[in-house]
Amino acid sequence: MRAAYFKEHGGSDKIIYGDYRDPAADTGEVVVRVKACALNHVDMLLLDGRFPPPEGLPHVNGCEVTGTVETLGPGVKGLATRQRVIVFPGFSCGTCEFCLRGERTVCLRYGYLGAHKDGGYAELVKAPAANLVPLAESISFESGAAVPLAMLTSWHALIAQAHLEPGQTVLVQAAGSGVGSAAIQIARLIGARVMTTVGSDDKLDFAKSLGAERVVNYRTQDFVEEAKRWTGKRGVDVVVEHIGGETFERSSYALTRLGTLVSIGSHDTHWGKLDLRHVYSKNLRILGTNLGSIVELRTILDYVAAGRLKPVIDRAFPLEDARAAVQHVLDRKNKGKVLLVP
Ligand SMILES: [Zn+2]
Repeated sequence: MRAAYFKEHGGSDKIIYGDYRDPAADTGEVVVRVKACALNHVDMLLLDGRFPPPEGLPHVNGCEVTGTVETLGPGVKGLATRQRVIVFPGFSCGTCEFCLRGERTVCLRYGYLGAHKDGGYAELVKAPAANLVPLAESISFESGAAVPLAMLTSWHALIAQAHLEPGQTVLVQAAGSGVGSAAIQIARLIGARVMTTVGSDDKLDFAKSLGAERVVNYRTQDFVEEAKRWTGKRGVDVVVEHIGGETFERSSYALTRLGTLVSIGSHDTHWGKLDLRHVYSKNLRILGTNLGSIVELRTILDYVAAGRLKPVIDRAFPLEDARAAVQHVLDRKNKGKVLLVP
C-alpha cells in the first residue's frame, strides 16, 4: 500500500510518501480501507520526537480514521466487508485493575492507533474489531474523521470530568484547534456560556460562529483580564486547557472559586506551573483527561447525525500531500480539523 510515514524525527520534511508494508488482520482484527484521516496534535509530538512511537521507526501517524471494512481476521463477527466504519482510537487490555473498574482510558497497557500501532496516514490500517463503530450514511467520511479523538476528548473532559452544567461559564483555549472547536460546541449544547481564545483576528468570526459569546486574541489581549471582565470579576467555572506552559498557569487564574481546570493536552510544552495558594484557598480542581469511551463516541455520533454537533473541517489534502498538511497544522493556519484523503 501507499502511506505517508517517517523514518527519523523532525519536521514535516521528514514525512515520506511511498510504499509501506501492508497491514494483515490477525485474530480479532480488521483491516480498514482509509477514506479519511484527521491530523491531530499528538501526530506532531510523535513526528518531532517529543512523544516517540513506542514501537519505534518507521512509523505511520494518524489516530482519527474513517473508512470501509476491507478484510476480516479470524474470529471476527458482526462486521461485513465494505461496511462504513469509524475507528475508536484507544486500545486497552480489558483485564487490568483500571479496565475492570470501567476506566479503560487509564488502562495499564493503554495505547493509541497511530501511536502504539501504525495509523491512518495510509491507504489501509488495521485495528481490533472491537474498536470499530458503524458510521451512519448521513455522516460523511470527512466529518466522521474529525470525531474520534478531538470531539471525544472534549466531550469526556467537559461532561464526564468537569461535570459542566447549564448556565456555567467555560473558557476554551484555542478555538481554531480540533479540540477547541469541539469543546465550544459541546459546551453550548449543554447550555453553558463560552469564552474562547484565538491567535489571530481572522479567527474571531469563526470562533463566534461556533457559539462562543466572547472571543479574545491572546496575542493582543490578556485572557485572564478578559475572563474576569466577562464574568463580572468572578472568573469562569471551567477551563479547557491543552497548551501548557504559561497558558496553563494563567488559565488557573481565570477560574472562580470551586472552579475546574481540565488538562487535555500539552501542545506547546509538557510543563506548567501552578500557584498552590491559589489552588487550595479557592478549592480548585485540576483534572487530567485522556480520550473517552466507545459509548461516549456513539453518543457523539448520534448528535452529529442529528446535526446538533458539527465537526469543523478546515480542509482536506490528498494523502500524497501529507507534508503540506502537517506543515499547515504546524503553522497553526487551520480553523478546525485538517484531513488526509487517500
Ligand atoms: Zn487494562
